[in-house]
Amino acid sequence: MEIPLLDLKIQYQKIKKEIKIAIDEVLESQRFILGDKVKRLEDKIAKYSDCRFGIGVSSGTDALLISLMALDIKYGDIVITTPYTFFSTVGVITRLGAKPLFVDIDAKTYNMDPEKLGYLLERKAKDNIKAIIPIHLFGQCADMEPILELSNRFNIPVIEDAAQAIGAEYIKNGRRSRAGSMGILGCFSFFPSKNLGGYGDGGMVVTNNEELAKKVRMLRSHGSEKKYYHIYVGINGRLDALQAAVLLVKIKYLDEWSKKRKENAEFYKELFEKIGYQKFDIKLPVTEYNNRHIYNQFVIRVKKRDELKNFLKEKGISTEIYYPLPLHMQPCYKDL
Ligand SMILES: *Cc1c(COP(=O)(O)O)cnc(C)c1O
Repeated sequence: MEIPLLDLKIQYQKIKKEIKIAIDEVLESQRFILGDKVKRLEDKIAKYSDCRFGIGVSSGTDALLISLMALDIKYGDIVITTPYTFFSTVGVITRLGAKPLFVDIDAKTYNMDPEKLGYLLERKAKDNIKAIIPIHLFGQCADMEPILELSNRFNIPVIEDAAQAIGAEYIKNGRRSRAGSMGILGCFSFFPSKNLGGYGDGGMVVTNNEELAKKVRMLRSHGSEKKYYHIYVGINGRLDALQAAVLLVKIKYLDEWSKKRKENAEFYKELFEKIGYQKFDIKLPVTEYNNRHIYNQFVIRVKKRDELKNFLKEKGISTEIYYPLPLHMQPCYKDL
């Protein structure tokens, strides 16, 4: 028996009929860029994330890029994030000529360590720091309360990289906040392997700030509101109707799927408990008490990593290393 890392074929069988109808509607309309389906998806995702506005874009990477552009991040500016994330988070910063400043992660949750962020901001308060990007890695929110407190104190906006965390929640004083709604802008990815995955690339920016929503909307269409009149220098970063059609079908099942992922994660944890995993020097994912984890990945830490990977491979079980090389050690970031 082969067990792939992710098998979307089973999911597809269940929703195939609906998907085909939805795609056919787009084909019949022959309207492929933005349009009614994208608008409906934007409203759905905004509502799902407790935000007033949603703006569909071409990928999670472009959601982050356009968010930084909306905050006027440019050459010489500094943006704080962690080096333990997917490449995009840092790629978009350097693409704008800005400089990433890395703060370390909390080894338990793999998310930005707020205490270390505090030290860094105090030491570098006079520097040109223009934004902070915490990542909700693997589907669990970063510890947002202290991060937002620092953001307020130092007057530096927070952009959430929620690419892996749609529907995740951070709970404080009984108040549940959805991933994407806590910073000034929130970014989602619809890459096929994300919890809400399209059939190609796609992404979304969510916000409660009307002015920024308007600006993001323009930036994704070459900086124009009215066709052929350009207020900003934007990009071609729009979401297409075929992706929106697929995602409108899939979002109906998202909560059910996230619930099943959580049940699977709990089942794994039970099995690890049963074998007394501590004696094998294995670290399991830790879900903080104030989080609704959506388990985009179930990541364990183990000393004999490569041996375990090979052993599982021999048994037909696929795994992946998240991530083999932190960002400051990548060939293109040697200078960092
Ligand atoms: C997937 C991902 C992105 C980028 O999304 P794309 O849609 O692939 O461009 C950004 N950040 C993180 C943490 C991701 O996991």
